[in-house]
Amino acid sequence: MAKYNFFEQVNKNFDRAAAYTRFDKGILEQIKMCNTVYHISFPLRRDDGSVEVIEGWRVEHSHHKLPTKGGIRFSHKVDEDETMALAALMSYKCALVDVPFGGAKGGVKISRRNYSESELERITRRYTFELIKKEFIGPGIDVPAPDYGTGAQEMGWIVDTYRQIKDDLNSIACVTGKPLAQGGIRGRTEATGRGVYFGIREAVNHKADMDALGLPIGIEGKTFCVQGLGNVGYHASKNLTGDGAILVGVSELEGAIYDPKGMDLEELIAFRKETGSIIGFGTSQELEKNIDIFEQQCDIMIPAALESQITGENADRVKAKIIAEAANGPTTADAHDILKERGALIIPDTYLNAGGVIVSYFEWLKDIQHVRYGRMNKRFDQNSLLKIVRELESISGKKYDEEAIAKLTHGAGEADLVDSGLEETMITAYEQMIEIRNNYELRDLRTAAFINAIDKIGTMYEQMGIFP
Ligand code: GLU
Repeated sequence: MAKYNFFEQVNKNFDRAAAYTRFDKGILEQIKMCNTVYHISFPLRRDDGSVEVIEGWRVEHSHHKLPTKGGIRFSHKVDEDETMALAALMSYKCALVDVPFGGAKGGVKISRRNYSESELERITRRYTFELIKKEFIGPGIDVPAPDYGTGAQEMGWIVDTYRQIKDDLNSIACVTGKPLAQGGIRGRTEATGRGVYFGIREAVNHKADMDALGLPIGIEGKTFCVQGLGNVGYHASKNLTGDGAILVGVSELEGAIYDPKGMDLEELIAFRKETGSIIGFGTSQELEKNIDIFEQQCDIMIPAALESQITGENADRVKAKIIAEAANGPTTADAHDILKERGALIIPDTYLNAGGVIVSYFEWLKDIQHVRYGRMNKRFDQNSLLKIVRELESISGKKYDEEAIAKLTHGAGEADLVDSGLEETMITAYEQMIEIRNNYELRDLRTAAFINAIDKIGTMYEQMGIFP
């Protein structure tokens, strides 16, 4: 299989879009480059007493806004090129969805399955310590979050390590995706998958685009395949099936399955928990190779794992009409061209998986404001709504039961407000992409997304001027 240089792939997309913008070569180069690249290696004492060297990176791609923001990945595939590419994607993603951060990314080159919980804790804490030492973490500097192979537990260790060394008023805002008790926010775990759902919903409700694909509008009845049933893939699938989409194919580490009749997501999850594998579930057929998932018949293909999955080698066999990029960089630039040529609709990663960083932004705001969303107004709204309901009852002579009253007078709490903010941001960003696509008479949303991001970042550079 051809080896794709990931950062080069991102820059190919950048260059295509840059040609439509007004910025001169120097500004475009400055936007494209990674501003700082930090390579770390440190020793880990393993549970058996032996010592192993662990390698990690933190890349801050763009400081046009601070803090910089982006997850930390635990994967044996992590390297400098990957971390740089992912950091760059974070800058474009944040700009596109109007989240006021520069882009960054971190990675530790380990496969988490090979380490015990206490080893993972030592790795995470030491990695954090190395970031603190070089000022690569802080509420106003650089704020990590979960990514592939990490979750709330690791973020809890990060904030705790940070506070041991640098505790102050805003220190809990040094990382997002934390457990609730450590300053986390409701809805962060589900956020990326939920955002993927909102993004797909926008796309399939666009009548002209669906007409061009020969598909009816709406999610209901559409078939989809997902690569990766991790946090993002699972929550995206859950929301889609909740609206009547049909899950027909799944690819996971142990293999891939396909069932044109559709599969029940929760039953599949329970089956995998019990047997340790998705293979043999219900009436599904096992596919020869994991990567074969991309060649299966379905309306929406959702890569929700790692980069460079749809490439020049398999793109001409991808049958799905909609490619929904829940992962970062799943489609290489040559594959993008092949899919575009045959008229597929690609919902690009920088837009579609932005839900994670959007809700991270809400978490960071909550932490520096030191007040939970809804705390000031929930009760007030509820009481006002109750007064209206009582007024309606007296005018109409009708009496509402307890359940109806609870529904009608529900005041928005943290979970409601986070979800509403996420939905609003995903809808607005989609509208911006469509507008640019129409204005420039483009045929794809990825170029529109990049033009939007470059325009916002470039304008900031123009307005800031260049420090001598
Ligand atoms: N790792 C996620 C991403 O790739 C979230 C980053 C964040 O919340 O800062 O967008």
